[in-house]
Amino acid sequence: MSLQLLDKLAEGGGLSHAEYVELLQARSPALAEELFARARRVRDRIYGPQVFLRGLVELTSYCRNDCYYCGLRRSNRNAERYRLTPEQILASCEVGYRLGFRTFVLQGGEDEYFIDERVVALVRSVKASCPGSAVTLSLGEKPYESYRQLREAGAERYLLRHETADPEHYRKLHPENLTLENRLRCLHDLRSLGFQTGAGFIVGSPGQTLDCLAKDLAFLADFKPEMIGIGPFMPHHDTPFAQAPAGDLDLTLFLLGVIRLLLPTVLLPATTALGSIHPRGRELGVLAGANVIMPNLSPPDVRDKYSIYDNKLSSGAEAAEGLEDLRRRLAEINCRIAPGRGDHPNFAQPDETTAASSKKM
Ligand code: SAM
Ligand code: SF4
Repeated sequence: MSLQLLDKLAEGGGLSHAEYVELLQARSPALAEELFARARRVRDRIYGPQVFLRGLVELTSYCRNDCYYCGLRRSNRNAERYRLTPEQILASCEVGYRLGFRTFVLQGGEDEYFIDERVVALVRSVKASCPGSAVTLSLGEKPYESYRQLREAGAERYLLRHETADPEHYRKLHPENLTLENRLRCLHDLRSLGFQTGAGFIVGSPGQTLDCLAKDLAFLADFKPEMIGIGPFMPHHDTPFAQAPAGDLDLTLFLLGVIRLLLPTVLLPATTALGSIHPRGRELGVLAGANVIMPNLSPPDVRDKYSIYDNKLSSGAEAAEGLEDLRRRLAEINCRIAPGRGDHPNFAQPDETTAASSKKM
């Protein structure tokens, strides 16, 4: 029966709510192996056994929001706050550029210092200093007009996880002023402006049930984001969820496989949280169907301060050795680093091959 659900997933169009729940309930090591083998075949048919790199620059640890799960939440008086200067941000991207990175992800808390004008200037300078690169932003919820200016400045992609598609569960994870409704409004605005749009959720966040996860999968099947970020919940000691257990590695991997079958062309990272929960977490993610890795390019002295959760992986690819280590780890699982910016096939650049390529980075 579970194999029939995998067949149905691969046919496209998604499953019913009850079928998603049934598939997640039926999870077993044998079913996971079968799912992962199918997910890899689907990924390899579209992209080849390759992983796109995104250089992550964590701009700021200030945040005006108070999400209950996150160490950067405004109420955390013990959080160490920092904000990178434009020079530091540009230098981080340029280091990555010289190493071959062609996508930069500028991420941060919702810091009121980074008004539109400043982010617009940043996007323009990264695009000018790193020709041919894509800029991804992940700076939270904004009005339509702000997103419009950022898109006009040249940013091509935006990551904004929906966090959970269940409104009641959303309420348990956020204070009153943050609503699922506004989160979804943002995602629709981003899509309408022509951003490659990334949604996603935390696996094992407090109060999450299989019912919530089924709703997440149904939302993804319907919205069809170009990118999907999922990673296990990791507690942070200075948040209301300090005592909550971490999310489950195997469930996260299973969901990665399901998402790959559901949306074959999706750009799907093996996230930092996956690498933080298990020493080989990112490789396991790639074996489950992921095809993106986001090494950290932030200056080493600020990495510990971007403390979203405890025990966050902070090694990066700031040096050629970091990249060499990643290359070796990928080779061990018969995978390699893909060249180019790695746009979603619906947004492919004229000079770029996102499909299987024999070129190596
Ligand atoms: N402030 C922006 C936002 O919230 O979209 C971007 C930065 S935020 C730190 C990036 C993502 O980190 C969030 O979307 C959330 O899913 C994830 N995150 C936050 N706290 C987490 C935790 N304790 N465990 C796992 N993921 C977490
Ligand atoms: Fe701020 Fe993002 Fe953390 Fe929420 S998840 S507190 S918006 S940095």
